[in-house]
Amino acid sequence: MSPKITPDHLGRSAVVYVRQSTMAQVLENTESQRRQYGLAETARALGFASVDVIDDDLGRSGSGSVDRPGFQKLVASVCAGSVGAVFCVEASRLARNGRDWHHLIDLCALVGTLVVDPDGTYDPRLVNDRLLLGLKGTMSEYELSLLRQRGLAARDSKARRGELRFALPPGYCWTELGQIEIDPDERVADAVRLVLRKFGELGSARQVMLWLQDAGLKLPAMRRNTQVCKIDWRPAAYHTVLQILRHPIYAGTYVFGRTADRTRVVDGRARKTTGHSKPRAAWNVLLRDHHPEYISWEQFEANQQLISENAHMQKRTERKSARGGRALLTGLVRCGRCGRTMRVFYGSRSGHAHRYQCRGDDSHVGGWLCIGIGGLRVDRAVAEQIVEAVSDHAACPQQAAADFVPAGHGDERSTGLLGLAYDPQLLLKPPATPTLNPGDDLHAAKPPPILTTLLQAPLRSPARLTGARRPSPGGYPHTSVHPTESHHARSGCP
Ligand SMILES: [Zn+2]
Repeated sequence: MSPKITPDHLGRSAVVYVRQSTMAQVLENTESQRRQYGLAETARALGFASVDVIDDDLGRSGSGSVDRPGFQKLVASVCAGSVGAVFCVEASRLARNGRDWHHLIDLCALVGTLVVDPDGTYDPRLVNDRLLLGLKGTMSEYELSLLRQRGLAARDSKARRGELRFALPPGYCWTELGQIEIDPDERVADAVRLVLRKFGELGSARQVMLWLQDAGLKLPAMRRNTQVCKIDWRPAAYHTVLQILRHPIYAGTYVFGRTADRTRVVDGRARKTTGHSKPRAAWNVLLRDHHPEYISWEQFEANQQLISENAHMQKRTERKSARGGRALLTGLVRCGRCGRTMRVFYGSRSGHAHRYQCRGDDSHVGGWLCIGIGGLRVDRAVAEQIVEAVSDHAACPQQAAADFVPAGHGDERSTGLLGLAYDPQLLLKPPATPTLNPGDDLHAAKPPPILTTLLQAPLRSPARLTGARRPSPGGYPHTSVHPTESHHARSGCP
């Protein structure tokens, strides 16, 4: 027994820290685990009466980028002064990053805890041992970086040649020669072709999913874990359909590195998250015409364009035009509480009024309804304001206001439609009754014919509004829908 172990140490407990980096190691490299658990026997043989085994960190990396509850527990018990010695098979088990390692060694020195590995017993209070432990920690950190660097370089160069094998999505298989071929299982290949063909017909991933569900058809999905990787037939889910539509591999293209890791600092520690999509220009590898295709690259590109345009309510998408529903303000109303675009819900019965609803953060399961409001009154109020803003009546006061506002305050003229969309009071009050009396000058009060049509059949596209703004050759009065452009409407004033 080492002379460094004193009765004081033996009177306190020994802690055996067991860790393996990944779940695959935990399942397959059982020898390392056996050696680590075996340290408990060693500790008892050395004379420690009480031995604790901390194995909460099996399957967790020691690189410092994931939480390690077991390591926290170890540090806490060392701080409490109840630990006489920490046992581990090598420094790399305790930590693969300098910060954790040196923190632990510092604490051990403060409370007089030994560090024991199969090579010897170290007392961090002794300068020589401290130096040795410091070197061990640095080596273990360096070893990890070196292994990672070598592994990544080899992986990337293989991927650049299109030879790196990875788990393929349904519809493709690796041949024995290391090439990608269409799955010889006709049922799988036909299911992929069906999804792609139906998307061509229906133009929407969601519609494809609904069609498949109606038809009671199942889609192939890969079931993967460390042991098996096989096809599973499951009812059509949205993400399965979308995966088939979005994966460039179906266009005969070999791609690698479509996602990236991100590291954030949380509570002063690095936290790594994986699977963040990268823009196509940043993909590591993209090799066209690499293997047999299901659709052409041009068709694939067209599909991506269509999918991104269909993603109507998502942030970051560009086009937000109405798409043919009865609601006037599809994609235009935003929630006053959280700022998200409000969705339109049409009732299932015919003649049912539509509603605008903000569903809050429903990207997570259990999303809540933020606010909702009946659509008819809102549409009517906005439509009346549109008519008011573009009628001949409105043009004069607006022109007067435009003339009145001093130079440099042009933006303050815009108090019409945009302000209306955000005015919660207007949503609460009933819309003002139209002020059209029998004796009125009909030419002045009546909205222009195109707007009457717009009111009767609600707007389908902002493009129509833009069209209404252009002067028509038939002497049609000039109108302005966008309030900031009200000064263009001057010529329309009688
Ligand atoms: Zn909201």
